[in-house]
Amino acid sequence: DRSAAGWRFDNSYARLPEVFYTKQAPAPVSSPRLVVLNEPLAISLGLNAETLRSEEGVETFAGNRIPEGADPLAQAYAGHQFGHFNRLGDGRALLLGEQLTPSDERFDIHLKGSGATPYSRRGDGRAALGPMLREYIISEAMYGLGIPTTRSLAVAETGEPIYRETELPGAILTRVAASHIRVGTFQYAAQWGTNDELKALADYTLQRHYPEALADAETSGDNRYLVLLREIIARQASLIAKWQLVGFIHGVMNTDNMALSGETIDYGPCAFMNAYDPATVFSSIDSNGRYAYGNQPNIGAWNLARFAEALLPLLHEDEAKAIERAQEELATFAALFNRHWLVGMRAKLGLLGEEPEDASLIENLLGLMKQYQADYANTFLALTYDTAVEQEAVLFGTPEFVRWQQSWQERLSRQPQSKAESVQVMRASNPAVIPRNHQVEAALEAAAGGDLGVMERLLGVLAHPYEHTTEQAEYAAPPGQSSRPYRTFCGT
Ligand code: AMP
Ligand code: MG
Ligand code: MG
Repeated sequence: DRSAAGWRFDNSYARLPEVFYTKQAPAPVSSPRLVVLNEPLAISLGLNAETLRSEEGVETFAGNRIPEGADPLAQAYAGHQFGHFNRLGDGRALLLGEQLTPSDERFDIHLKGSGATPYSRRGDGRAALGPMLREYIISEAMYGLGIPTTRSLAVAETGEPIYRETELPGAILTRVAASHIRVGTFQYAAQWGTNDELKALADYTLQRHYPEALADAETSGDNRYLVLLREIIARQASLIAKWQLVGFIHGVMNTDNMALSGETIDYGPCAFMNAYDPATVFSSIDSNGRYAYGNQPNIGAWNLARFAEALLPLLHEDEAKAIERAQEELATFAALFNRHWLVGMRAKLGLLGEEPEDASLIENLLGLMKQYQADYANTFLALTYDTAVEQEAVLFGTPEFVRWQQSWQERLSRQPQSKAESVQVMRASNPAVIPRNHQVEAALEAAAGGDLGVMERLLGVLAHPYEHTTEQAEYAAPPGQSSRPYRTFCGT
């Protein structure tokens, strides 16, 4: 039974033990206005874009109207924030419920910035327009890049100011996710729940995200929670490899920001790397570089260890055995990650088939890119198009690079496939456009002034980054050399 807007909610999370949430309605706002609606996403969810644009939709996206069948709640969770364990929860967000799509897929519909909850601590429960539009742009860019991610259905202005360093327009993002179950949800269960509650959460996660693995475990008699750990390790290894390959820096890989669905979640201080350097950090609060580009795989493994710790009571009744099993699984992460990364890097260089020296060929290029501060995305584009674009000219003119290029060409000539086939793989693996910070900022600035055209055009080119259109080429330039290092901020 679908409503006129197309809503068809189920509320399976609300059937979990009560320790995991607090039922709560969004706080109404005075004069909501729709800023942006993601029509293709709306349609894929079975929603009626026209109704969503009408007053009914706007009231829904602003939290003034609860759609039929929704049963809003704030989720409880914990998390290691920059290594420190804290009790958290949805402090400024609510799960409206789970939308069932026409093909019976299930997606969380989540309002971010919808008012205070019992988990708000000292926060106001609100969000500012700029960061919500930023999440909209970057999450949709990630989707375009083929990277598992939460998505953005709409941003509505509340018509009410919020107060940070300055007064800012308040806004609410409607986020769509496979679920919002986090490593931190399990940490919360382990710390403040009973064993039965932990088990209920683990069974729920298996059913919702890993039904095939659950069925296999039931057939084979394997411990299903060990299987859950294994599957989650595999998905994170794959996800973080994808981030590394496009130069995405999450910026705040706290355990509450790692989704067990394997989707990228929580676009706060994230950004894409310009010049290649593993030490790259954008977040203003990450002064120690904990979440630097090159450290993301290590942090992924660290977070997974926290997840395994939370699961221990379910892995074996004997704790020593449980730890041993968890460690065996955790030890697979590095090899899984490296495998995905190597496969992806080979494709970025058009290397078909495998040679033992491929890894060092790749490492040598990255070493030179770091040494000559070559733009990450554009170096691979220049290799794809066989053009030394201006910014990479320094690297491309060096004797070391010429030598590297020779060994790359020799490697390519040893493979039976044609040059054209290689180039095709490279075009499909090297995005023509990534959401560069300066372009995202320009779009946000125009939007703040009421001009949404800049953002819409940017979203348009980011939607199909592997098409390599001339319009996309206009967006490929890194920021001017004179611009100050870009800093991202969270909590607004
Ligand atoms: P994040 O760094 O975005 O992952 O957020 C960490 C925690 O802070 C989460 O529990 C959020 O719900 C909470 N939080 C962030 N901003 C606010 C806010 N303005 N009001 C209340 N809680 C917030
Ligand atoms: Mg978060
Ligand atoms: Mg956040």
